[in-house]
Amino acid sequence: MTTHREPLESVLETVGETPLVRVQASPDDVPVYAKLESFNPGASIKDRLGVYLVEKHLERGDIEPGGTVIEPTAGNTGIGIALAATQMDVEAEFVVPERFSVEKQTLMRSLGATIVNTPTEEGMKRAIEVAHERAERKDNAIVPQQFASPLNAAAHEATTGPEIWDALDGEVGAVVAGCGTAGTLMGIAGYISERQPDVHVTAVEPEGSLFARTKGADVDHEEYNIEGIGTSDLGTNELFDESLVDEVRQVSDRAAQEELKRLAREEGQLVASSAGAASVAARDVADRIADGDLDVPHETVVTVFPDSSERYLSKGIYDEYEEWVDD
Ligand code: PMP
Repeated sequence: MTTHREPLESVLETVGETPLVRVQASPDDVPVYAKLESFNPGASIKDRLGVYLVEKHLERGDIEPGGTVIEPTAGNTGIGIALAATQMDVEAEFVVPERFSVEKQTLMRSLGATIVNTPTEEGMKRAIEVAHERAERKDNAIVPQQFASPLNAAAHEATTGPEIWDALDGEVGAVVAGCGTAGTLMGIAGYISERQPDVHVTAVEPEGSLFARTKGADVDHEEYNIEGIGTSDLGTNELFDESLVDEVRQVSDRAAQEELKRLAREEGQLVASSAGAASVAARDVADRIADGDLDVPHETVVTVFPDSSERYLSKGIYDEYEEWVDD
C-alpha cells in the first residue's frame, strides 16, 4: 500500500486505482473481493466514465471547448461528468428522473451543473428523450448517452478491468456486478474474458427489473428501491451483451438492504443498495463454487461496490426495511 503520494495538480488525477477489499463474510477458500468505488473523488464508479467521456468527446471533436454535455443520469454519472467538466472547459446539464436521491442532485448542482427533472413513472426512457430534445435546441452540445455509448464499456475496459486483473495476477474465476447501463459489467467482463474465456459472469439486478428476460426468465417489471441498477425497458439498454453473461441474478430490495446494513455493522463498509445487491449475489456465487456446484478457472470472485451509503441517508437507507421502501 502506498503511504505517501506525490502532490497532484487536479482532482481528476485521483480517479481510478481504487482498493480491492475482501468481503469478510465470503467463504475462506473462495474469497469475494470488492472494488471500492467510493474512493473516487466524486465518490462513485461513474467518475471513471465522466472523465473518459468528456476527454474522448473533446479529443474526437464531437464537442468544442465551451460546449455543453447533456446527459440522462440517475446521478452518479452526472457527478462524474460535472467533476470532469470543471477541469475541461465544458458545461454540464443533466436530465434526472425525480425518484433519485436529493444528495446526488445537490452534488451535481454544486459542481456547477444544471438539472432538469422528469417524472419517475416515465423512467429513464423519458429522461433520454428529454436530453436529446434539449441538445437539438443548443449549439455545440452533445448527449454522450451512457446507455448506448460504446465509450461507457470502453472506460471500464481501459481502467476497472485491468486494475482487477493486475491486482489478482489474473486469478479471477467469476465476475459479479450490478447492471444499470451495464457499462461496468461489460467493460470488466469483456477485458477479463478475453484473457480468461472460462470466467463465470453474473449480472445483478433488482427483483422487478428485466435483464433476466435475456436469459429466458418470465419476469415482469415492478418498482424497486435499489438505486443505480435494473431496467424497466430493455430497449434502452443497448450495451447489455447477453453472450458475455452466464446468468442474471435478481436480488430483492429487502435482501440488498439487509446486506448493506450487515456490511456496515460487521465489515465497516459504508456502501449503498447496489453494492448490497452485488454482495448478496457475489457471496452466493462463491458459496456455489465452494460447494462444488460451479466450475470456475480460479476460486476467486470479484465484484464492485459502486458508491457509498452517505449519498442515500435521506432515503432512510439504514432505517427499518418498511421505512426505507418508497410508497
Ligand atoms: N450502482 C450505482 C449506485 C450506480 O449509480 C450505477 C450506475 N447507474 C450502477 C450501480 C451500475 O453501473 P452501470 O451503469 O455501469 O451498469
